[in-house]
Amino acid sequence: MHVVDTVVVGAGVAGLTAARDLVRRGRDVLVVEARDRVGGRLRNDELPGGGPIEVGGQWVGPGQRRVLDLIADLGLKTFPTHMAGRHIAEFAGRRSAYTGRIPRLNPLALADIAQAQLRLDRLAARVPNAEPWAWDGARRLDGQTFATWISRHAATRSGRAFLTIAAQAVFAAEPADLSALWACHYIGAAGGLDALIETRGGAQQDRIVGGSQRIALALAEALGDRVVLGRPVTGVVWTPGDVRVEFADAPPVRARRAVLAVPPALAGRLRYTPALPGDRDQLTQRMPMGRVVKTNVVYAEPFWRRDGFSGQANSDRRPVGTVFDNTPPDGAPGVLVGFLEGAHADAAARLSPADRRERVLADLVHYFGPKAADPVAYLETDWAEEEYSRGCYGAFCAPSTLTRFGPALRAPIGPLHWAGTETATRWIGYIDGAVESGHRAAREVDAALAGA
Ligand SMILES: Cc1cc2nc3c(=O)[nH]c(=O)nc-3n(C[C@H](O)[C@H](O)[C@H](O)COP(=O)(O)OP(=O)(O)OC[C@H]3O[C@@H](n4cnc5c(N)ncnc54)[C@H](O)[C@@H]3O)c2cc1C
Repeated sequence: MHVVDTVVVGAGVAGLTAARDLVRRGRDVLVVEARDRVGGRLRNDELPGGGPIEVGGQWVGPGQRRVLDLIADLGLKTFPTHMAGRHIAEFAGRRSAYTGRIPRLNPLALADIAQAQLRLDRLAARVPNAEPWAWDGARRLDGQTFATWISRHAATRSGRAFLTIAAQAVFAAEPADLSALWACHYIGAAGGLDALIETRGGAQQDRIVGGSQRIALALAEALGDRVVLGRPVTGVVWTPGDVRVEFADAPPVRARRAVLAVPPALAGRLRYTPALPGDRDQLTQRMPMGRVVKTNVVYAEPFWRRDGFSGQANSDRRPVGTVFDNTPPDGAPGVLVGFLEGAHADAAARLSPADRRERVLADLVHYFGPKAADPVAYLETDWAEEEYSRGCYGAFCAPSTLTRFGPALRAPIGPLHWAGTETATRWIGYIDGAVESGHRAAREVDAALAGA
């Protein structure tokens, strides 16, 4: 049996960050990863001609200090998302092609969007990042869905449409799925709704040269043979001072501590002996993953740029509700990235691959004209079909989850420590949150080992 100080389950950014920190503190670490690659929700695929393209998480933005520090530390570079030209917005049956931040809508709709966003941002700023459940207004907000909050606080169809698209784009879920407290917690943890939805100055501002998976690849390279691939954990046997991680078809690994750096829903599927306390299990029963089908549609060149479009489009009625220019930094080939989110992902996943492709191309033609009908390549990933993600971008809380079981999200249980972007206090659901959680879990483990 392999024996180490700490076993890390999951070689996503969170697990790899925790492992790196522990190795730097002189600890003996083994990372076990189910897939035959590192990166988890970050994955590079190949464009025709060989360049990388991100099929999972990809953007970073200002305010994401932890991931930006890590990128710099690993010697990686970023480049700006293309945003010159007119963006397209379709709200409540009206199409607007606009430059700058604000779509051309009637003044009443704009005023309503502005007041609803202001209320949401003010509320989100009041939710404590570390303990959103420990706040006077928590229970009232947690007892309603985000859809209910929207219907109470946006007065116009456009206002409701704007917040609905924003929720789908940010959570890959429907507003009716989410607790309003979770939505506010998530928004507050990023510093406001604009930080989440904007390109310039927001979470979509920059991409990583060579693709985002390079973060995980560089971390894993430095860890060397401390990272073992193709090793899905099936069971965790623990006592207060010791843990044994079990696999279907390999000898177990014994350690003094374990960092479980997998999303809550997947952590809840492991067999624990003894069983985990009820609060922790109830929590993982109530934190489903969002659902997204991400498509990268490749053209010989970014033709929309010559036609005056930025490549950015949002719609409250087309299945591909969010589109960006995802062209590599050297400008070729042209790539449009389109997201089918929430209920649109449910519907798209039930189509045949050919019908789904046709649906996606129809939306791109609707936004950018007939040239969009003839891509040279079409790449798609349905993240709900990924056995070791089971959805994306991240987990969310159903109503009354945070206030009843929130404290179980991060609290260690015996030798078991929890990491992963869902356990972050800033930029939850983002790469930055994964890095934060890895640092925090490593500090916890190091302190526990030092005190033992
Ligand atoms: C399509 C898409 C777009 C996104 N866009 C962005 C974006 O633009 N910017 C951004 O910041 N974030 C984005 N995200 C979210 C971002 O990718 C994640 O927040 C981040 O990568 C999570 O890292 P993690 O280490 O917490 O979890 P994961 O990456 O999920 O890592 C968990 C690891 O555990 C492994 N694992 C699971 N079960 C087991 C098991 N039983 N045994 C062993 N290993 C196991 C998994 O294979 C995986 O490698 C996006 C995600 C997706 C999918």
